[in-house]
This record gives sequence, structure tokens and C-alpha cells, in this order.
Amino acid sequence: MLQKETKERIQSLYREAIKALELRPRYGQRVMIAEIAKALGSIHEGEKDERDNDAGIAVVEAGTGTGKTLAYLIASLPVAIERERKLLVSTATVALQEQILDKDLPALKKHLSLPFNFALAKGRGRYLCLAKLDKALQQLSGILSTVDLFEQTPEEQDRELYEKMLMKYGSGDWDGDRDRWDDEIEHKQWSHLTATHRECSNRRCPHFQNCAFYKARSAMEDADVIVANHDLVLADLSLGGGAILPAPEKTIYVFDEGHHLADKALNHFRLEFGVRSTRQWLKQLEKVIEQFIADAGMPVGLMHSLQEMPANLQALSQSASLVWPLVMDLMQDRDRQRFEFGVLPESLRELLQTMKAPLQPVVHCLDKMSDMLQKSLDPNETGDFQREVAEAWQAPVGIMLARAEELSEALSWIAAEEAEGELPVARWLSKRPYGDDWDISLSASPISVAAQLRRNLWNRCYGAVVTSATLTALNSFNSLKWEAGLPDWAVYERVASPFNYPELGQLEVVQLASDPKSEAFESDVQNWLKEAVNPDEATLVLFSSRAQLEATRDYFIRDWYEHLLCQGYLPKSEIVRRHKERIDNGKGNVIFGLASFAEGIDLPGEYVTHVVIVKIPFAVPDDPIQSAISEWMESRGRNPFMELTLPAASIRLIQACGRLIRKESDHGKVSILDKRLVSSRYGQLLLDSLPPFRRV
Ligand code: SF4
Repeated sequence: MLQKETKERIQSLYREAIKALELRPRYGQRVMIAEIAKALGSIHEGEKDERDNDAGIAVVEAGTGTGKTLAYLIASLPVAIERERKLLVSTATVALQEQILDKDLPALKKHLSLPFNFALAKGRGRYLCLAKLDKALQQLSGILSTVDLFEQTPEEQDRELYEKMLMKYGSGDWDGDRDRWDDEIEHKQWSHLTATHRECSNRRCPHFQNCAFYKARSAMEDADVIVANHDLVLADLSLGGGAILPAPEKTIYVFDEGHHLADKALNHFRLEFGVRSTRQWLKQLEKVIEQFIADAGMPVGLMHSLQEMPANLQALSQSASLVWPLVMDLMQDRDRQRFEFGVLPESLRELLQTMKAPLQPVVHCLDKMSDMLQKSLDPNETGDFQREVAEAWQAPVGIMLARAEELSEALSWIAAEEAEGELPVARWLSKRPYGDDWDISLSASPISVAAQLRRNLWNRCYGAVVTSATLTALNSFNSLKWEAGLPDWAVYERVASPFNYPELGQLEVVQLASDPKSEAFESDVQNWLKEAVNPDEATLVLFSSRAQLEATRDYFIRDWYEHLLCQGYLPKSEIVRRHKERIDNGKGNVIFGLASFAEGIDLPGEYVTHVVIVKIPFAVPDDPIQSAISEWMESRGRNPFMELTLPAASIRLIQACGRLIRKESDHGKVSILDKRLVSSRYGQLLLDSLPPFRRV
């Protein structure tokens, strides 16, 4: 139960926030606060101060306009502070993260009588590594040579940028965060300046005290609220939890845009390796090892493993070259080849298995090298290498080790066999560009992350809130529960949007002559758009296929030249900026967008008065993971269309319709050009899940 004082504290903080931010109290917001507070208040702590009961998880779908950020912060912050836990707010998109960091949290910090600190958590890759910047500048000055064949040399033309960075970081004008640098930094420029976990020498680094990443980490340790994204949380959990972020047992998580957690996790657990690129890497590694021995010698502790290295690399290369004709044969002319139930042909599986034996000592040797080089950097330890050697080789060996570990993990999983009754793993081959040529990669992904999330997150966390405007599909939480592994005992609540949809908007299902699957559909859509869309107004047209978007753009570009902005031709932020500018200047504009414009984009008021959805947004039919899930469901006598495809399309359709009404004063119309909504049996289910616009 929630302590009486905490309950009163939450109520009074809500009153303070409403008054200070000049908001109107909303019924849905109060319900959301009460449900979250109740769930968190039911947490019971065991002897180790960890949650020891089935409580503390609230799953709240909050319709647009509920004010969910304020609701979850007000409900969970006092509990987190009182129980000495971190509140970790995680989003799927940068846009929402920025809104929470730049708007919501500063406003609450300023006005609430509850003092708190907040910090942003990002992955290492977003921060400057001073050691690498130092090294890049030394390489450019010719003071330090590059480890040939392996490292890319920084380019002379970037010297000025690197020097400016060093100066600004030194003077405190820049905090080393890539996203806070004034201009766009290209990937190639940045790749010389950031260190992976394996490249970083941590406390042994001479720059440790002044390191941008570790400074950000220590700010995070002092913060009551940490803002992160789903990818970072998942990366932390896959490292065991508590490696990058606070441990799950010490954390109350809020997953905003929570409907993306499961698909982000699926991506996260996917492993792959390219056959050609691996062969190339093995050749490179052989030469790098030769160079290492020439530079650094063979200390006694490494002698045996280094002597064995060439034979192991040769064995690996030989197996990898036998894999190539096999996968070529399996692919034939296709771009992708999925294996039924994730079962690899035995010849391929056996060959991959043979690669595991020589790879293991390679990983072991690189790990040992990395460890010894790290020690040689430590002034308090007697290392096996001279300091200059250690400085030159520590990062390249770290990169090699990381790559070898990735390969080892991917091989293990791709070549594994599931036991009877276990969920299958999706496994497939795909063609991908490789330099001027192409490669074939082998990939594996779980078809469900429910078990991993249950084990590593829901069972371990102190508390959690999962929220979004769209968590239910076809009016049920079942899909979310299945995909994200959320426990049945969690609190599930739906809070309706405060908007008066029937008054604010209309919904029309336009029955074009052609079926969306027919060839005539594209031209029918173009003719309808020409008739029904006024380019002098603000319209968002959402396509499900890039090809159709491009063909329609080509059709309209001449007539609507001054009034058309298309995804794929300009960055998303630039499209939004120019669109708003045109509307502010009293002109009209039409945006042609794909899935990413159907979600997370905020065009309130006159910025959008007409949303056109070209097709029901069904997932791409040849996605290998979705196909593997469908195959498994069918084998169990289940209906993947009703359980998987339709619920996912329903969520996307609700999101797309949600672009129209962003505030109580908005108005407009949604037109859906897919007649399957009225002609198919499932159409009514989709329509019933949409906001209750007035139907025309
Ligand atoms: S501590 Fe690690 S990330 Fe920081 S400067 Fe040193 S090597 Fe780079």
C-alpha cells in the first residue's frame, strides 16, 4: 500500500504542477497517476531491499491529450525518491526524449516543491574519447604511426575540426557530446574520436579524470531521474543490467512509447555475420598479428597462444571459404532466403560448427592481449609491454577482440539447434552491399523476446510503468503481453483521450474502384488525391510503400512543386520545418510520408487539417522474423493473421489517425483509401479500434 504521506505528497505535487504550469486538471491524468501510484505503492521489499512480490508494474494506455508525461513523473518521482531508487524514463524516439529533457523535466524542477536532479544517459558512442582525439592528432602530425592494415588513418582535412574540438572541450565550451556540437559531424570524422567498451582503458587511461563519457556517467549517478532510450536500456540488460545504467533492482523504469519495446528488443538480440567480410577480416587479422609480434614481441604469457594463432586463423579461413559456395547455392538469385523453422541445412550447420573450435582460442588470445596491454598502461602495475607499445596497440586489439567476440556469439547462435518444444529461432541468409561488391550474411534472431524481458527486466526491476497512446491492439492488451512478456499480474489500464473526437474530426473510408493489391490502385489514388486534396491546405499523406510514394511524387511534382514535401528527399526535421514555414506564411503544403511520419510527429492546429492514409499499414510480408513467427503459430494451429498481423496493423493505423488531433482545439478530417476496411471481415475490427471520429 502507498504510504498515506506519499499519497498526499503526490496529490499536492499534482496541484502544484497544475497551478504553476497553468493546466486544467484532467480526469484521465488523475486516473493514470492513481494507477501508477497504486502499483508502485504495492511493492514489498525483501531482506535485500529488492522487490519480492508480484507488484509494481503498471501498463497504462493513455489516449492523446492525457498529459501522460506529467502523470507518470508526478506519480513515480516521489516514490522513487522516498525509496531511494532511480527513476529511469526511456523513450523510443529522440523527439520525445528531447521534449522530456528540454521541456517537461525543467518545468517540473522549477515549479515543484520536490527537489530533484535529472540527467541524460547516452551510449559511449555519442561521447568524445580524449585518448582517441589525442591519438588522431598525433597521427596527423606524424608523431604516431597507425597500426597498418587495421586502423583507418584520420584525414588531413579534418585536422582543423579535431583541433577546434580539443580547444572547445578544454575550455569547457563543449561537453564532448556529439549531439551538442554546433555542426553535423560525419560518421567518418567521428569514428576516429569515439571508443567502444573494448577500446577504452578506463581508469588506466591518462584522460580518465577528464573523460566526457565518465563525467556524464558520474552526473547520472547523482541524478534522481535518468532519461535514456529503449536501445540503451536493452544494451544494459544484455550486459546483465547495471553495466551502463543503474541495476534493475534499484530502478523504477518508465517506458514511454512502450509499444516499441518488444520490436526494439527483437532487433537488439539479432546476430549476424557476412561471409566475405569475415574472410577479409581473418586475412587482415593474420597480418595484424604478424605486425604486433614484430612491434611488441612475444611475452612469455602470450607465447603459446600467439604461436597457435596463425594455424587457428588458417583453419577459420578455410571453413569460411567453404561456407561461401554453400550459401551462394542456397541463395540462387534471391536477395533473401529464410530457413523453415530456423533449421539450417545440415551441411551448412556442420561447417559453421567447425568454425567454433579454432575461433575460441583466437578470442582467448585477443582477450589476454587486451588485458596485458591494459595493465601495461597502468603506472601502478608492471606490464609486459613498453608504454608506447601499449598505447599504440591497446585500441586496435580492443577492436579485434570485440569483432572476434561478435563472430563467436553469432556463430554459436546461428549454428545451434533448438531442443524439442523450444521456440524456434529465425535464421536466414541475405544479400547485402560490400564495398563495390556484395556479400551474403547469415542472421539469427529470436522470434520472441518475451522470456528475455521477463527474466532480465520485469522479474528483476524494482518497479516499471509502460505507457503509450497505443498499447492495446484491437482493444486488447494480449499482443503486448505476448510480445513483451509482461506478467498477467501487472496493472493494466486504459485511459481515454479527453478530446471530443466526434466534434473535432471526421473519418471517411474512401471506396476507390480498385483493390489496394491491384495494379490500378496507384493511379486510382493519384486521381483521388488530385480531386480531394487542396494543395493550399495542410495535408499529410501516409504511404505504406516507398515505391508508391515515389511514383505519386513524380505524378504531382510539377503541379504541386511549391506545395509538396516528400520523405526520402529531405531530412524529416527539414520537411517539418519547411512545412510549418509554408503554413505560417499563409500557404498550403502537402507532405508525402512513410511509417515514420505516422508516429511521433506533432503538427498541431492548422499544421495538419487533413490526414490521408493510403493503405492499411500491414507489415512488410517478407520480413524474416515475422514470417518465422507466423510459421510457428500456424504449426500450433493458431491464426497469425488475427493474432499478429492485424493487431500490429491496428496499432499503426491508430497512430496514423492520431496525427490529426493533437490539441483540444484541433479539427480536420482523416481519409483512408483502403476499401478493405469496409469490404473485409476484419475491417470492422480495425475501425472499432480507431478514435471515435464522426464517420462520413
Ligand atoms: S577513459 Fe576511455 S573513453 Fe575516456 S578518454 Fe580514456 S579511453 Fe577514451
